[in-house]
Amino acid sequence: MRRNYDVIVVGCGGLGSAAAYWLARRAGEGVLAIEQFGLGHDRGSSQDHSRIIRHSYHDPNYTVLAAPAYDLWGQVEEESGIKIVHKTGGLDLEMLGTTGPKDLSHCAATMAEHGIPYEELSAAEVMYRWPQFTLPDDARGLYQADSGLVDARKANATHVALARLHGATVLDRTPIRALRPNGDSVEVVTDAGTFSAAHVVVAAGAWSNSILGSLGVEWPLTVTQEQVTYFATPHLREFAPDRFPVWIWRAPQGFYGFPVYGEVATKAGQDVGGEEVTAETRTFEPDPNARGRLDRFLESHIPRFLGPELYTKTCLYTMPPDRHFVIDAVPGHPRVTIAVDGGHAFKFATLIGNILSQLALDGRTEYPIGAFRADRPAITDPTFPPLFRNEAVVHRT
Ligand SMILES: Cc1cc2nc3c(=O)[nH]c(=O)nc-3n(C[C@H](O)[C@H](O)[C@H](O)COP(=O)(O)OP(=O)(O)OC[C@H]3O[C@@H](n4cnc5c(N)ncnc54)[C@H](O)[C@@H]3O)c2cc1C
Repeated sequence: MRRNYDVIVVGCGGLGSAAAYWLARRAGEGVLAIEQFGLGHDRGSSQDHSRIIRHSYHDPNYTVLAAPAYDLWGQVEEESGIKIVHKTGGLDLEMLGTTGPKDLSHCAATMAEHGIPYEELSAAEVMYRWPQFTLPDDARGLYQADSGLVDARKANATHVALARLHGATVLDRTPIRALRPNGDSVEVVTDAGTFSAAHVVVAAGAWSNSILGSLGVEWPLTVTQEQVTYFATPHLREFAPDRFPVWIWRAPQGFYGFPVYGEVATKAGQDVGGEEVTAETRTFEPDPNARGRLDRFLESHIPRFLGPELYTKTCLYTMPPDRHFVIDAVPGHPRVTIAVDGGHAFKFATLIGNILSQLALDGRTEYPIGAFRADRPAITDPTFPPLFRNEAVVHRT
């Protein structure tokens, strides 16, 4: 097997498989992507039927990336013939006065700034259009018609297939043990021998620090074990994707959910609702407390969404303290570029893959990613406090 490549990608989850694809479009057989487990495994962050995609962010650093992400997903769909993004419309919901700088007026303002149409709705207007919701009078909504879901499993498999089509080698079941910078190349040490490349792209999710550790770098990343539950609602027609939007309940105790898709069931979860773990200590056991919090929310706000549990699936978030992405070279290692997802990156996966390919091959990107630098205080200052609220920790103490 060939040992020297232009670029080696570490990890074939959502971001790594996307990077492999966009790299292979330009560097073809010069690309090797390496995954420690079997392709399509569910031990990381990316293997489920659906992830929310939306323009609606309170932070313009993300709003500005949403349109290019939709465009690039469209290109992947065009090239593969596989439908990956399903627009269902999206509803952000909140109780007036509870979300501070993240409140819906900020989401509306960033969308207005970027020319994205939206509708602001009272609680009564939301319930008139979607009687599935039961909202108090002081709730309000923000509807954006392009929101929807990305079929994550299909996206990953499609990126891998297209990467191979363009000449990349994809090696699974091959753990990478270390990166070793060596002059004008980087050695990648695996159980199947050592490879080398002019550039390495790291998309290792919850394992990021174990790869960074081999470079003498450690970042303050919090990994949480999150979960989503599929409910076999008997009210299928009410929750079909053409009748029911993806939704986010924006609150200190935040929840999100999907119409029926992937399974004959609705799906919902709590955002940052899981215990802090590592990739090694995580279990696949659902947390009954998080499940209880979700059930109580759904019972009072979307009661017919509920049904017998089909299954609850666990999954990992990997979050810097400010919960923003990292997309940058590893400081001191210009030949190693890394992306860390912050627990909300799937909607941007193909765009982040494209950005990583530009950083690796050109040393720069056309996209505005200044907010995701690796030398910002959230990464470099060990006293930087986590800005996210962890529901599991809050409810334990
Ligand atoms: C429950 C849940 C709900 C979410 N909902 C949304 C949503 O609605 N919208 C949204 O945009 N995002 C959402 N996200 C976040 C999104 O899924 C993640 O941001 C994204 O999947 C991260 O992908 P990744 O490639 O960074 O990580 P992963 O998919 O975990 O990929 C990392 C890969 O690297 C491999 N790897 C690591 N170390 C090595 C090594 N040493 N050698 C070889 N391979 C290695 C791993 O095995 C793994 O396959 C959600 C996440 C969860 C958990």
